[in-house]
Amino acid sequence: MDDILIKGGSVVDGTGAPARTADVAIRDGRIAAIEENRTDSAERVIDAEGKIVTPGFIDIHTHSDFTLPLNPKAEGKIRQGVTTEVVGNCGFSVAPALPEKVDELRAYLSGSAPWLPFEETNFANYMDAWPDIAVNTIMQVGHNTLRLMAMGMEDRAPNDGELLHMQEMLEEGLNAGALGLSSGLFTAPGCYSEPEELHALGSVLKKHSARYSSHVRDESHCVHEAVAEAIDVGESCGVHVQLAHMKLSGTDNWGEAQLLLDRIEAARNRGVDVHCDQYPYDWGTNPLRFLLPTWLQEGGMDAMLARLADPYSRSRVRQKIAEVGFNNFGRLESWEDIRIAISPHGAAEPGQTIADIAKARNCDELDAVFDIIIADKGATRILVRCMSEDDVRTIASEPTATVGSDGPCVSPYGVTGQGKPHPRLYGTFPRLIGRYARHLGLLTLPQAIHKMTGMAAIALGLVDRGVLREGYAADVVVFDAAEIIDRATFDEPHTYPSGIDAVIVNGRLVIDGDTHTEALPGRLLRRQGAELR
Ligand SMILES: [Zn+2]
Repeated sequence: MDDILIKGGSVVDGTGAPARTADVAIRDGRIAAIEENRTDSAERVIDAEGKIVTPGFIDIHTHSDFTLPLNPKAEGKIRQGVTTEVVGNCGFSVAPALPEKVDELRAYLSGSAPWLPFEETNFANYMDAWPDIAVNTIMQVGHNTLRLMAMGMEDRAPNDGELLHMQEMLEEGLNAGALGLSSGLFTAPGCYSEPEELHALGSVLKKHSARYSSHVRDESHCVHEAVAEAIDVGESCGVHVQLAHMKLSGTDNWGEAQLLLDRIEAARNRGVDVHCDQYPYDWGTNPLRFLLPTWLQEGGMDAMLARLADPYSRSRVRQKIAEVGFNNFGRLESWEDIRIAISPHGAAEPGQTIADIAKARNCDELDAVFDIIIADKGATRILVRCMSEDDVRTIASEPTATVGSDGPCVSPYGVTGQGKPHPRLYGTFPRLIGRYARHLGLLTLPQAIHKMTGMAAIALGLVDRGVLREGYAADVVVFDAAEIIDRATFDEPHTYPSGIDAVIVNGRLVIDGDTHTEALPGRLLRRQGAELR
């Protein structure tokens, strides 16, 4: 007897192949059969006539390590059809946390993980203690975290001992089954590193057949050089490279998305194993302090807050922003384009723009920014309109570009339901299908599904997920192709998408119509050599 039989749906299997009508049978957490008119009885039959049946979506770039322990039902993601999340991105990981560095790590990550309890741990123990949650998790070791542990917020190259320490901590995570290393070179302390440091860590990745992902050094004026730098790590070290959330930030840099994609294609033609990902929105989000010049952060949070209160430092920041725009984001069209998302200490109202706040306070916009960061002890998070919709469409329509929300998994209730976070936390996957494939026609449905399933599995080395095939893990989504769409907006971000009928993780139904079944069948997936399962 089958555990679940999904009957009569249009199966889009994740390989990019066209849809075909078939029944999908699930037993013991695996796909037991994909065939027409299956006659075996089943504990539960899902009538999928007129619906699409696909592999569960793989959110290849997330920060859900900051929230899943607080939010195990994973509703913000599972209700989009996401069944697997890759965490530890942009150089930020919650482990390792050395005994005397826990407070520093907590302060460092406060703009992204204001609610998470931090404790001393190595990477293996962190993975072993990962709670039962609704989705599968894949972990990465963060370069910013390693550097913070080894040498604090120092703007210099590591000495031999510090570099060795970083290599050893990375190796400890890889031995435990972490996918690889992520970097976030756009901000401190990763931005203080030279390429040699990344290559030295890349050699450790190579030894373990592990992978490298990068939020590149600059997504604005130097984005082409920054993407080349990340590709060079893969090319020199012989490891896979995942280019995070591809974008061209800042008005001066708009219109060059195809050039970036061509650069990736050229690397692939040279034999480099490289993929990129994207969230389909023209707004980004970040801790507010990361928009300011990176020298401000040297020495850590208290040093930064002291500098921000100092008129001379303020004038230096003002001058730099007048010259080149914001760190990593370049020039914006207006102060309306920065909105408060979360203000953990109540320094500003979520939803308000910097323009609103400066007007209400009768002060200059940059002074408002400095004052907010100080009052929020560095933890303010903002939304920023930094991309052109044309570039977003160019990258969205690229069949090899995978899909990542770049967001933590939150829910409309509980501690993670605060503030006005980026709507991509609730909408990324339904939006790519509903808006960019169905409405704008930039992709066929099988292409869109392939980007978020089979292609992602290839980019991760996932051997038994991402495709609907007999024997594979039963991560499955059933949705209505005519209805699926994101509904989260900037004013009402905590809003689930519509059009999704069922989400199954490891053979267990988690979303059943409108209901979350409370099931927590997600598994922590561990890398063994080049394979992840
Ligand atoms: Zn990032």
